[in-house]
Amino acid sequence: MKDWTLVYEGFDSKKEALREALCTLGNGYFATRGAGAESEADEIHYPGTYLAGGYNRLKTEIAGRVVENEDLVNMPNWLLTKVKPEGGDRLNLLSVEILFYRQELNLKEGLLSRTVRFRDKQNRATTLIQRRFVHMEHMHLAALETTVIPENWSGPLEIHSALDGTVINAGVERYKQLNSKHLEPVRSGAVDEDGIYLLVETNQSGLRVAEAARIRVYSGDGPIEVERKLVQGPGFIGQEMIVEAVQNQPVKIEKIVSFYTSRDFAICEPVLDAVEAVGHAGDFEELLRSHVLQWDHLWDRCDIRLSDSDRPQMILRLHIFHLLQTVSRNSIDLDIGVPARGWHGEAYRGHVFWDELFIFPYLNLRIPNLTRSLLLYRYRRLNRSRLAAREEGLKGALYPWQSGSDGREETQQLHLNPKSGRWLPDHTHLQRHVNIAIAYNVWQYYKATGDLEFLSTYGAEMILEIARFLAGISTFNRELDRYEILGVMGPDEYHDGYPESETPGLNNNAYTNVMTVYVLRTALKAIEALPPKRRNDLLEALALEQAELDRWQDIMGKMRVVFHGDGIISQFQGYDQLLEFDWEGYRKKYGNTQRLDRLLEAEGDTANRYKASKQADVLMLFYLFSAEEIQELFNQMGYDFDPETIPKNIEYYRQRSSHGSTLSNIVHSWVLARSDRPRSLELFHQALESDISDVQGGTTHEGIHLGAMAGTVDILQRCYTGLEFHDDILFFNPRIPKDLPKLSMRIKFRGNWFEVTATPESLVISSDECELQATKVGFQGKVYELNPGETLTFDLGKEK
Ligand code: BGC
Repeated sequence: MKDWTLVYEGFDSKKEALREALCTLGNGYFATRGAGAESEADEIHYPGTYLAGGYNRLKTEIAGRVVENEDLVNMPNWLLTKVKPEGGDRLNLLSVEILFYRQELNLKEGLLSRTVRFRDKQNRATTLIQRRFVHMEHMHLAALETTVIPENWSGPLEIHSALDGTVINAGVERYKQLNSKHLEPVRSGAVDEDGIYLLVETNQSGLRVAEAARIRVYSGDGPIEVERKLVQGPGFIGQEMIVEAVQNQPVKIEKIVSFYTSRDFAICEPVLDAVEAVGHAGDFEELLRSHVLQWDHLWDRCDIRLSDSDRPQMILRLHIFHLLQTVSRNSIDLDIGVPARGWHGEAYRGHVFWDELFIFPYLNLRIPNLTRSLLLYRYRRLNRSRLAAREEGLKGALYPWQSGSDGREETQQLHLNPKSGRWLPDHTHLQRHVNIAIAYNVWQYYKATGDLEFLSTYGAEMILEIARFLAGISTFNRELDRYEILGVMGPDEYHDGYPESETPGLNNNAYTNVMTVYVLRTALKAIEALPPKRRNDLLEALALEQAELDRWQDIMGKMRVVFHGDGIISQFQGYDQLLEFDWEGYRKKYGNTQRLDRLLEAEGDTANRYKASKQADVLMLFYLFSAEEIQELFNQMGYDFDPETIPKNIEYYRQRSSHGSTLSNIVHSWVLARSDRPRSLELFHQALESDISDVQGGTTHEGIHLGAMAGTVDILQRCYTGLEFHDDILFFNPRIPKDLPKLSMRIKFRGNWFEVTATPESLVISSDECELQATKVGFQGKVYELNPGETLTFDLGKEK
């Protein structure tokens, strides 16, 4: 079971916040951090609960300006359950003697359990066992079971269990100066003997959130009657109960909870439905069974197995687990995007960035209708993005770098550098490449599924409007006879402008320019792919005329890319003029240089002066495309491109990256898979550690890094197997590192399921029995037919 469980032995107050994030339980609709049920927010604990897409805006006056932020709201804490023997203190792990402590996250079952043995000041030893889950099938339900065993005492046991809506957003230290009270109490009440409910409302977005709880106490063989007292205050309701506890006889407190909002489908009113849901719910064990069954079904499709490797296997599963807890079947139709940090904490305010680029490839090949739903989140915000483009005097659609509820730009205007304590203007919204990622994702989804209906109804329109915007920001430089894109930022967030310039933005970021050509090409392909009637209708509706399409062709042939040295693609124009960074010196001085932007700013300097990147930028091109595709793109732009320069570019930028984003190792591992497999595998292992070991030195407790989590899974899935799809052919071009254990997984392509097993020596693909036709599988230049129920085996020979 080692490869299915994340286990923590012993309580460590310094690591508690990290554990809480990593032990978050969720179901794609709501999520709750793995904080102890007795805890409230303090310097050690942060028991956050978040609704997928549950945002609220607040204004704050800061550094002489009024800034407005939209946050993912910390919802009422449904866990709160405290126990204490009469006359003692309520359990607080800091004030008792801990005799034993073990916490286990069972990934197979989606179950978090914790066993604590402690001795209080009165010398009473008690065992407390807690188990909880957030139901993967009944998305409105969660459950907590607390078992108390008095080891050397008998007497009254006081139990306090509540729904606490007095919580604020206080999970991120950097945001502490910002307003954080999002919830207003509406009402609360008791239902029957054992039920309570609470209704709160977000104070700007007007979202009503109801929670109900059914609390039962068991001793011996069944439920017991207990003395109960209702405790109520604004935004808070709980029950206080007293049980006569007997030495060595377990007392079990079962709390079944429901979570509803005014945005839910198929409800009458949140409180009514929340109360009914707990009324009809089975007991803990019964709910657990259906929950585990749902996880079983998910793992059957979604697991990626590595033979003989307990830790990497467990981490890989942890990554898949958090991905499926953030977005799952329950998320379909919810109008949510994929938040960069999961619904696991308040970092980045639950916003949606370009990270979907790293996440969708895994979903496309398993739960494609989920990707479809997540892409619709973008489609519904197309009009808002058109407005944003218009505000810049441009046609088409400009999607925001950070997206929240309605698709406006949510990037904060000011950000705090904790190193210097200064509030600084945030220019990251200049990352126009988020639009490229959206167009790329739409096209990849279409390629993986062949879902022409989606492309026709939604996808093509998004791609065309994005293409239009990108063409709009491409300006013609007569002198050079080339198109340029000026004043943007690439993925590397250390560079937001030229050192001496007053205005932010960089010129001719290679990634943005090349990808613009890719989007324009894709837009033309999408037009071609549409059924003729729809094509005409769409072009007419968008008033997209031949002259505009001709200009796209012109841009495609003349986009500018700047090079320096011997075939090095300049990250942006002028990059070669920047100073080399003293990596050694800074490592000596600070140890960790991942956030050297902050270190330099605190020193009165700026990362803009140096050839130093936070993350892969130019290298993103080799991440997204094969050498042949890159060559084709460059040739189209009128540049010779020698694939031999790829390793040179990789080496050049590898030496100049601080990996200040967890996405960086993913891309570096990926691009090295062709030329240096041992190093690629090493970086893959480093990427696996990103969150579990909190390698960024204290960011994971504020929320996991979902892009990096999905990215690691995708390295195995697509990079090492060389999996690509073109039209209806599934291609494999494996590059399996020789030290990688046997890898097996299931994938879904064009409606059919396959089992793929790869080792450095062979790749085996079997098709499930099904009603569908044969699938075409490409390997080393040849295309084979794979009939349902059949297997193909490819020998990878000596190529390592
Ligand atoms: C990275 C971005 C990423 C964002 C959210 C930043 O640190 O630089 O590329 O989109 O985090 O994950």
